[in-house]
Amino acid sequence: MKVLVINAGSSSLKYQLMDPDTEEVFAKGLCERIGIDGRLTHKVPATDGKYEFDIPMPTHAEAIQAVLDALTSAEHGVIKSMDEIDAVGHRVVHGGEKFAGSVKIDQAVMDALEECIPLAPLHNPANITGIRACQKVMPNVPMVGVFDTAFHQTMPAKSYIYALPYEYYENDKVRRYGFHGTSHKYVAGRAAAMLGRPIEELKIITCHLGNGSSVSAVDGGKSMDTSMGFTPLAGVPMGTRSGDLDAGILEYLMNKYGYDIKEMLNILNKKSGVQGISGVSSDFRDLETAAKEGNERAALALEAFQYSVKKLVGAYAAAMGGVDAIVFTAGVGENDGPTRMAIASGLEFMGVKMDAEANNVRGKEAVISAADSKVKVLLIPTNEELMIARDTAEIVGK
Ligand code: AMP
Repeated sequence: MKVLVINAGSSSLKYQLMDPDTEEVFAKGLCERIGIDGRLTHKVPATDGKYEFDIPMPTHAEAIQAVLDALTSAEHGVIKSMDEIDAVGHRVVHGGEKFAGSVKIDQAVMDALEECIPLAPLHNPANITGIRACQKVMPNVPMVGVFDTAFHQTMPAKSYIYALPYEYYENDKVRRYGFHGTSHKYVAGRAAAMLGRPIEELKIITCHLGNGSSVSAVDGGKSMDTSMGFTPLAGVPMGTRSGDLDAGILEYLMNKYGYDIKEMLNILNKKSGVQGISGVSSDFRDLETAAKEGNERAALALEAFQYSVKKLVGAYAAAMGGVDAIVFTAGVGENDGPTRMAIASGLEFMGVKMDAEANNVRGKEAVISAADSKVKVLLIPTNEELMIARDTAEIVGK
């Protein structure tokens, strides 16, 4: 089966054509600058081919058409015709409380996605545009929506309720939703496979640490808590996002500097996190270089990030009444050994013992704890596209 996975952003669109059974990726790529001018980067893993084109993309529809043209091109294509695409899986950021799993997209689902727009005003409109663009050029191909929030719908009320007047939950759906669910679910499943134990028996803490970061408590294969909240702004400090903070700070800064709420949120989303603390960069590679050169704020940014993740590891172990495995994934989690070490060291009291040599690894599945560590620490590269393709194949196959 060939599944096209689409991840549409406001001005970009990532794609992968893959077989979810063999996990072979036939082609993948990225459309950028949609609505500005348009640029397509198309890669064919089998031949190591990389192709770049400037193609006008006034809307997502032209971007999807460019993707289909690239996939079926005589020179750099991987299929003869569009008919070989059996299904399309769409990443959707916010499914609200409506979607606890992936679904086949029909008009009722599209209506429900529209209803979720106020919950994710930046992301959901782009996802919807991506789906509509695909429907326009592939009207007969079944499509499936896979939600970032779905995996976390198993959280108990005590985890998701905010201590606000209850009517804001009842009437306005203000609650913790959590994000990166597809990634947390994938790595938790892989962790169980690596440990050779049923996931139902395991308590796992999954640390998705990238440009955006979130930590989850996965008990028996189900998300029971996660650090992102009503929006992806919450939790640990991120590349440029503040993570959790005292809401009183908003009032203080807005009064002092005359910011309106838009300016304030722009600061919290785009100018904060490790970028904000360091004043150097949102990229952990730059921070480590700067810290080594003696930049104290870069060192502080790294320390604050690591400390914040470490505290959550402790909190989630307490929440689950123990932990069998801690998993690191995403850009920082997969590549940054010193950060993994800083987070997982000093936790010997709770049975976590790292192996410095085993931790000297990047981007591949590995056990990075010592052989006698009671809690296994694992590095597992995430694969959200594979999860989306698998869910799509399963739902379309039904
Ligand atoms: P993601 O959002 O998962 O794509 O992660 C992107 C982030 O991963 C980048 O902004 C970097 O901070 C981080 N990253 C990627 N490679 C490395 C590396 N070799 N060492 C440290 N951090 C890295």
